[in-house]
Parts: sequence; structure tokens; C-alpha cells
Amino acid sequence: MSRAGSRDDARAQQLATNLSRVRERIAGACAAAGRDPGEVTLTVVTKFFPSSDVRILADLGVHHVGENRHQEAVEKWEETRDLPLTWHFVGTLQTNKAAAVAAYADVVESVDRRKLVTALSKGAHAHDTTIDVLVQVSLDPPDRRAGSGRGGAPPVDVVPLAELVAAADGLRLGGVMAVAPPDEDPAPAFATLAELAREVRTVEPRATAISAGMSADLEAAIEVGATHVRVGSAVLGERPQIK
Ligand SMILES: *Cc1c(COP(=O)(O)O)cnc(C)c1O
Repeated sequence: MSRAGSRDDARAQQLATNLSRVRERIAGACAAAGRDPGEVTLTVVTKFFPSSDVRILADLGVHHVGENRHQEAVEKWEETRDLPLTWHFVGTLQTNKAAAVAAYADVVESVDRRKLVTALSKGAHAHDTTIDVLVQVSLDPPDRRAGSGRGGAPPVDVVPLAELVAAADGLRLGGVMAVAPPDEDPAPAFATLAELAREVRTVEPRATAISAGMSADLEAAIEVGATHVRVGSAVLGERPQIK
């Protein structure tokens, strides 16, 4: 076997091990919460990692992948178009990139303002597609919301935004998404998200998705009803620190 071949095998082995640990954590959290593990979808966030890893993950039975930057996402999608994957865009999105994201994103989880709804709707129309949209909620305390870099609509804006998405051509309201505030117990924030998710279901009963929980806090999210967890480093390893 070639050197490159054995290196690829080692990476595949590592990802298989990490993935099965994450799947066990999800199953354990579901058992603790009295939930069926079939209710929780794992989205592996592949940002910073190459399309060769996406390929390995697809081989290992991953169906949902997530990216947070348009340029990186579109390149990886181009390189793996032969794979049966659902692409989630989970990052802060500039309005002028929204139409381009509509070319490949099946789900956009980070819609947090009205202008983005209009831009995505136009993009969906241009690409003759329908995009599942989650309204991203900011769970940061109001004084830390601006400049957190995480994005998200303030809780009071969530239902009006959901109504706008539900009425938009080419978009399907899927539910809500959030990132827990750093350095604190995520449980109260996730409970707030679950409550907002209930309100969003009064807009559209089929909008049942609650995307919450990452490598560090997926158990807390599953406990309050997360239907989608977005896991990066626990599957792929630590990302290089960038500033
Ligand atoms: C990077 C990222 C994740 C995954 O984070 P990990 O801590 O590596 O699991 C999840 N959600 C969003 C929005 C992200 O940007």
C-alpha cells in the first residue's frame, strides 16, 4: 500500500472512532431524556477541514454537513457533488452572498434579519430551488449581543422573522437555531430556545427543527428537545486557531 493510502486509512480510522463516540453521546443523551435517537439528526460541521474528510464522513454514513463560510463551502460542495449530502449553511451570512449560497445550501440555519430573507428568497427563485430556513436566535444577554460575532436575532424578533420566512417564495420555515453563550451553563439558554421554538410552531406547525448543541454541549441541547446537533471538533479534531 502506498504511503498516501495508509495516511488516508489512518484519517478514516480516526474519523470513524470519533464519529462513533459522538453517536454514542447522542444515544446516551436521548436515553437520559427519554427520547428516540431517531429524532436527532447529526450535522457534522466540516469548516477548516478538506473535502477528503467530507468524503470519508459520507462513507461512514454521515448525510448532513455544515459550513460557516461561503467561499469554503462552495469549493467543498463542488468537489463532492457526487455524494448524497445535505448541505447546511450555519455561519453569519452577508446579504450579498445569500443568492450564491442558494446554489448549494439545502438548509440555511443562520437567518437573523429581514434583508437576508429577501435575498435568500431571490436566490432560491434564481436557482429554481426551495431552501429550508431556520431562524437563528441570539441567546446572549442583550449587552453582549452586539459584537459577539455569533449572529442571531434578538428573541423578540424571532416570530416576526419566522412569519416573513413562511410567507417568502422559495423558502420553507424549518424552525430555529442557536449557539449557546460561551463560558456559562447552556441549559437556561437552550430552555429559552425551546420556548421560542414553540412560538415558531404556531406560525408553521411543520417548523419543528431545533438546531442546538455542539461538541461541548450537545447533551444539554438534546435534553430540552434539540432535533439537530451541529458537531465539528468532536468528530474532526481541533481546528487551527485563527484570529
Ligand atoms: C463551528 C460551528 C459548530 C461546531 O462547533 P464544535 O464546537 O467544533 O462542535 C456548530 N455550529 C456553528 C454555528 C459553528 O460555527
